Amino acid sequence: MKMPYCSKCTIGEDRNPSHAITSRQRLARVVVGLGWLTLMWVFLRVPVRVIAWPTSLIAGWFGASHVVAAWIAYPDCPELGAIASVLIRRYIPTRCGPWLALDRWLEPRS
Ligand SMILES: [Zn+2]
Repeated sequence: MKMPYCSKCTIGEDRNPSHAITSRQRLARVVVGLGWLTLMWVFLRVPVRVIAWPTSLIAGWFGASHVVAAWIAYPDCPELGAIASVLIRRYIPTRCGPWLALDRWLEPRS
């Protein structure tokens, strides 16, 4: 399944065992999550409701899922799998293009 807003994110196509993420990579997810929540707050102040509501809802979902991903050390696509993994109490494999790149960059260089 592909999401229109995250074309590089998929659910369940990759069955490879998940990798652990470092505290730095978790911190990055918190930072991105807080960024999304700030965006949500900005969108809520848009005077046009038909624009303010859907955009702040999406930003809120992204923000919450990234914070949850950091909290449970979820390595894959936060907005697709993190909250769902918490709800069904089982790891759901997903793939996240943006986070794959970012995690690689955050990995300790040897
Ligand atoms: Zn993603």
